[in-house]
Amino acid sequence: MRDIDKKKWRRVISALKREFPAQRPVKVRTSRLKNAEASTVTGPTGSTIYISSALNFSAAFDALAHEYSHVLDSHERFADHDSQHGETWGVWYSRVYRAMLRVVEDKQ
Ligand SMILES: [Zn+2]
Repeated sequence: MRDIDKKKWRRVISALKREFPAQRPVKVRTSRLKNAEASTVTGPTGSTIYISSALNFSAAFDALAHEYSHVLDSHERFADHDSQHGETWGVWYSRVYRAMLRVVEDKQ
């Protein structure tokens, strides 16, 4: 990610945490991932979202919206793998994506 995007990235993450507090803490880490663009690990103390450091801002933005929506979608606990991108996940995705867009389109 270019330096100019890093500030925007941090603003997006703090807006997400503010507007959509999860039941347990969510951390977002950028790191080298071998075979994925992003992944989320959830344990008893919260979730960590890993975003590949190889992604540019736009791809990282999409990946973060996708993964954060999984964290918020509590219906997933009862779903099998194929239905993890079901209706409730899609509703969260739409809310999360629009909130993130508001941050990057902010003209301040
Ligand atoms: Zn997914």
